[in-house]
Amino acid sequence: MVSLTRDDALKAISLVKIDEGEFLGRWVFTRGVSIFEGLVAVMLTQNTSDKVATRVYRDLKARLGSITPSSILSLSRLELEGLLRPIGSFRQRADRLIKLATVVNTKYGGSLEFIRNMDTDEARRTLMSLPGVGPKTADVVLLNIGRPTFPVDTHIMRISHRLGVVGGYEDVSLFWRSILSPGDYLRVHLGLIEFGRRICRSRRPHCGECPIRDKCMYYRSGGTIPR
Ligand code: SF4
Repeated sequence: MVSLTRDDALKAISLVKIDEGEFLGRWVFTRGVSIFEGLVAVMLTQNTSDKVATRVYRDLKARLGSITPSSILSLSRLELEGLLRPIGSFRQRADRLIKLATVVNTKYGGSLEFIRNMDTDEARRTLMSLPGVGPKTADVVLLNIGRPTFPVDTHIMRISHRLGVVGGYEDVSLFWRSILSPGDYLRVHLGLIEFGRRICRSRRPHCGECPIRDKCMYYRSGGTIPR
């Protein structure tokens, strides 16, 4: 049973500075991009650091101006692969972007803006039906357009498991939503990622500095379980 509260979460993230400019998904949406462009940016961050993804996003943007399904499809596969090359699995990613752009063009007339008018569940289902879009990517897009989702990345998953929250993506997301208010989701989501980067690191977490260590299973077990 996890006794973590909203106050504990806020205490933990108070240890870190949140710079929204360091989160590509957040940064692009604060610049008023289309849902399609924001989705592409979020997809670039999959299994990649925000730093590298931001570099690739800027290169794509410089090359295409506006990132739309048609502008992506105007590139040759070779050129798209070249632009994505700094990110791992660039061939696979090029493939996914081409498939995404093709589906959005043929099925939705080149725009995903209609998603803004859907209720959150429907919008999430629609996003997740697109090639290369899983629950985390859909939740990041939705959170950034003001919907009450709580995306769980690898940092948040690790922290949650260490604290004793059990289960997979949906369970962990639901846990955080159950102890927070919707108005907290964005700040705590970004804060926990930063907390995972700086304090609750994968290797040698700084438990001595952690204000919630008395509630942490990992700490109480002497750092043996769970990783
Ligand atoms: S006590 Fe250590 S392992 Fe637990 S949440 Fe804090 S930093 Fe992470």
